[in-house]
Amino acid sequence: MTRLLIIGPPGAGKGTQSAKLAEAFKIPAISTGDIFRENVKNETELGQQAKAFMDRGEYVPDSLTNDLVRDRLAWADAAAGFLLDGYPRTADQVEELDRILTDQGESLDAVVLLIADTDEVVRRLLNRAIEQGRTDDTEDVIRHRLDIYADQTAPLIEVFSNRQLVVEVDGLGAVQEVTARILEALASRGIEA
Ligand code: ADP
Repeated sequence: MTRLLIIGPPGAGKGTQSAKLAEAFKIPAISTGDIFRENVKNETELGQQAKAFMDRGEYVPDSLTNDLVRDRLAWADAAAGFLLDGYPRTADQVEELDRILTDQGESLDAVVLLIADTDEVVRRLLNRAIEQGRTDDTEDVIRHRLDIYADQTAPLIEVFSNRQLVVEVDGLGAVQEVTARILEALASRGIEA
């Protein structure tokens, strides 16, 4: 049973690495960004509420995001562990996740921190804009997302660091190399796939 978070700036490769880690640990990768995008695509009420924030590169309000995650973590597949990608991103979300886990008598095993510098993430996100056509991948919106990350999410690293949960990994290099680095760093803390 493994419960992980993956955290890092937009474009650090969280989504890509999450898929690899989920496969290795046989746990669901739960991406709040993917869930929001799916809801936008299907024009659900949640999607309609989230879209304007996402298009501006802003965070969807905590109340919506917290409800979504509480609901998703109650699914049967998450009983065997999970990897949360893109949540928590605010102090309020950290508190909510703590409450959810405490209610279930659970705790986190590690927080994978993917490191990538600003030039590299902007380059990757602009590429992704061409490949996937995401409406939040224009240069202005990307810069705004990076600012919000620095302002609201980067400070959370210290919270998890104080809990001795952070496993820092360099996100530069080939996908496989980065995956291998993460698996090795987790294994060295006794968290084996
Ligand atoms: P990235 O990490 O590249 O910014 P994501 O796919 O994780 O992309 O998220 C895309 C957008 O979805 C965010 O910019 C935000 O609007 C919304 N979102 C995702 N996760 C959260 C969250 N935990 N809290 C608030 N908004 C979120």
